[in-house]
Amino acid sequence: MRRRHVDYYEVLNVARGATDEEIKKAYRKLALQYHPDRNPGDRKAEEKFKEINEAYEVLGDAQKRHHYERFGTAGDMGSVFDFGFQGNFDSVFNDLFSDFFGNQRQRQRRGNDLRYNLAIEFEEAVFGTEKEIEIPREERCPVCNGSRVEPGHEPVTCKHCGGRGQVRQSHGLFTINRTCEYCGGEGRIIKDPCKNCRGKGSVKTKRKLKVKIPPGVDNNTRLKLRGEGMQQFGDTVPGDLYVVLQVKEHAIFERAGDDIVVQVDVGFPLLCLGGEIRIPTIEGESVLKIPPGTQQGKVFRLKGLGINRSNGYGRGDQLVYLNIVIPADLTDRQKNLVEELAQEFKDSSPKTRKGFKEKFMEFFE
Ligand SMILES: [Zn+2]
Ligand SMILES: [Zn+2]
Repeated sequence: MRRRHVDYYEVLNVARGATDEEIKKAYRKLALQYHPDRNPGDRKAEEKFKEINEAYEVLGDAQKRHHYERFGTAGDMGSVFDFGFQGNFDSVFNDLFSDFFGNQRQRQRRGNDLRYNLAIEFEEAVFGTEKEIEIPREERCPVCNGSRVEPGHEPVTCKHCGGRGQVRQSHGLFTINRTCEYCGGEGRIIKDPCKNCRGKGSVKTKRKLKVKIPPGVDNNTRLKLRGEGMQQFGDTVPGDLYVVLQVKEHAIFERAGDDIVVQVDVGFPLLCLGGEIRIPTIEGESVLKIPPGTQQGKVFRLKGLGINRSNGYGRGDQLVYLNIVIPADLTDRQKNLVEELAQEFKDSSPKTRKGFKEKFMEFFE
C-alpha cells in the first residue's frame, strides 16, 4: 500500500538532531494549541492535532525514531499494522497534560488501532457485499482476564516502593519522583504469572470477522469497526479496526466519481447511418440507439446505471464514449468504395460551413 510520507520533524517544527526534551517541549506546545477541546468543531485543527500526535508517537520513542530515521517509517508495515499513535497517545497525553485538562481523560486507556487492507472487485464496490476477514491481534487474556496473575494467586505488594510504584530521590534541594524499577511502576510484583499468557495479560489470536461493505465504496474508503483493535495489558478498552478498501480495476468499467465510464469501439458507417449496438452495463447487457449523423465526441448517458452517490441520494449514470475505429487494411473493393464515397462527398460538400482551407487562409490574412 502507498502511504503518504510525512516529515515528522517538520510537523513538530524541530531540527533533525533535536534532543528528546526539545521534541517533548515542541509537542506539548503544539498539542495544546491544536487540542480539540480548544478548537471545537474545527476539522483542520483536529487533523493537525492527529498529525502532531502521530509525529510525537514516533519521535518521542527512541526505537521508533531510530527506525524512522533509517527507513522513513515507524515500522510495523505490512498488510496489517498498528496505527499506534491513537492508542498510545492517551497515555502519553495523560502524562503530559493531566494538569491542564483535569481527569476527564484519565483512567481510560484505549488499545492500539489496527489497519487491514482489503481488496475487492469493482462490482462488489458498486453493489456492496459482505466479506469474511481474519485479523491477527492481541486481546485480553481470557484466563487471567488481563490481570497477568495465575487464577487463585495474588500479587504481592512491592517492598521497594511500598506499593506506590514510585520512589523518591533527593538531589540537594529537589525531590524527584521516579518510577520504581522493581515493579515497573505497578506497585505490585507477580510471583505466579498466568500460564496462558505467560504473564503478559494479552494473547495473540486470529479473529474472524464479517465486514459489511456498503454499496458505492471507493478506493481508500475506511470502514471503522469499533472495539475490534488491540487490547493489551493496561488497556481498559480495545482499540478500533480500520478496514481500508482497495477496488480492483475492471476490464470494461471505469469509475469517474459516481459515474461509470465505458468505451465502445464503433465503425464510421454506424455514426453516419445510425443503428443499435449492444453495450455492457453494470446491470447486464443493454441496447444503445445511435441516431444517424452522430458526431465524434458525443457522449451517451444512461441514467441511474452508475454508482450509489456518496451523499446517499440516488445513483450516478453510465457514460458511453464511442471510439471510432478506422480500418487500416482495406480490401480492393473496400478501397474502391471509400474512394467512390470520398468523391461523392467532394461533389456535395456542404456550403453552409466554411471549409478548413478558407479558415486557414483567414488566419494568415
Ligand atoms: Zn493470562
Ligand atoms: Zn515498586
